[in-house]
Amino acid sequence: MSSLQPVRGTHDLLPDDSRRHRFVEETAFSVVKRYGYGEIVTPIFEFTEVFSRTLGETSDVVTKEMYTFADRSGDSITLRPEGTAGVARAFISGGLAQSLPLKLFYRGPMFRHERPQKGRLRQFHQVGVELLGVEGPQADVEVVSMAYRLLCALGFGDKVQLEINTLGDADSRAAYRAALVSYLDPFRNALSEDSRARLDKNPMRVLDSKDENDKRIVANAPLIQDCLTPAAKEFFTQVTDGLAALGVPFVVSPKLVRGLDYYCHTAFEFTTTALGAQGTVLAGGRYDGLVGQMGGPATPGIGWAAGVERLSMLVETAPEPERPVAVIPMGDAMAALVLADRLRTAGLAVELGFSGNMKKRMARANKANARFAIILGEDEAARGAATLRDLDSGAQEEIALAALEERLLRS
Ligand code: ATP
Ligand code: MG
Repeated sequence: MSSLQPVRGTHDLLPDDSRRHRFVEETAFSVVKRYGYGEIVTPIFEFTEVFSRTLGETSDVVTKEMYTFADRSGDSITLRPEGTAGVARAFISGGLAQSLPLKLFYRGPMFRHERPQKGRLRQFHQVGVELLGVEGPQADVEVVSMAYRLLCALGFGDKVQLEINTLGDADSRAAYRAALVSYLDPFRNALSEDSRARLDKNPMRVLDSKDENDKRIVANAPLIQDCLTPAAKEFFTQVTDGLAALGVPFVVSPKLVRGLDYYCHTAFEFTTTALGAQGTVLAGGRYDGLVGQMGGPATPGIGWAAGVERLSMLVETAPEPERPVAVIPMGDAMAALVLADRLRTAGLAVELGFSGNMKKRMARANKANARFAIILGEDEAARGAATLRDLDSGAQEEIALAALEERLLRS
């Protein structure tokens, strides 16, 4: 460890990177605002229990990935690994059950102690939404299609695939659990250690194993589809029919389960082949049991979260920063500073070279992608004027200093 290195799995966002990040975040917020979502900002740390009780004792996140520490008062604190648990906690502690349905958007850093690789960091960022208080499948349709519309707005709707599945209702899950255990139990000793533990606590999680041998065993396991109650089946049909009606392309993926324990009914992921192994860019599902399980009033919920780093990698062009105007003094440097200040106050972006000859300053203006250069020559200054050069066409004109704002704001 060197104290001057960033911590493994963390990175600095330099201006070009953060421009892409902001573009992703702002696009996400502007899309979900059209559906009536408002932003919630929860703390980036919570009492550890908020996560351990909700994400499930067998989830990878809780067993291996949380940044947990005792703070100076001896409380066990965890840096949030995901957003839903904190939002559910805020819902309960803030007594928000009176204001249902609730549509919330969040963004910000998340922390997981994983093996860093491309698209997998220890501090990463998510944008996400939670819709609380709506039971019916129309909510699932709207929330999933909203994710699709976001990916389209970012410019790569055609590069992702929506995989969707149902995890059924409580009765379907109980039946499935039994079927799965009786299928998996004879393979108990062949399963990985993690999967053996899950077999007892939460057998559906075995389906999510990344171990190659587990995958072979799971290949022939019974499917949740065979255990759905008629009501759960009908719910899923309404979700898929709804997506079809909205023209959202999807494939049903019968083995898709989500890594966290609180999901039911709809589970979905948007994946891409463009990012190598870390192909899931956005994932979510319905979590009707979560709020009740945390000790709040039973409240249905559905939501998704997307990795901003992974989305940023798919963004081809983020909007360029505003092109500045370069102010280039030939003599009086203070006059240039005063003019730059005046133009910035009027709302223009101004690039001011602090030193160097005319050639150097022009080179810097071009590097900053300046639209115009204002050259403050001494003779013109005496007449209260300057030279305005259009850096795209090369055309040049003399212009009164007093007329600059008007001229520049118009072009
Ligand atoms: P994975 O299967 O890639 O580990 P996950 O199921 O753990 O993903 P979720 O908890 O569903 O991921 O988080 C939602 C999204 O957040 C993921 O689809 C991904 O885009 C992003 N994400 C999750 N973990 C990381 C990470 N360590 N670094 C960067 N992005 C991440
Ligand atoms: Mg993970």
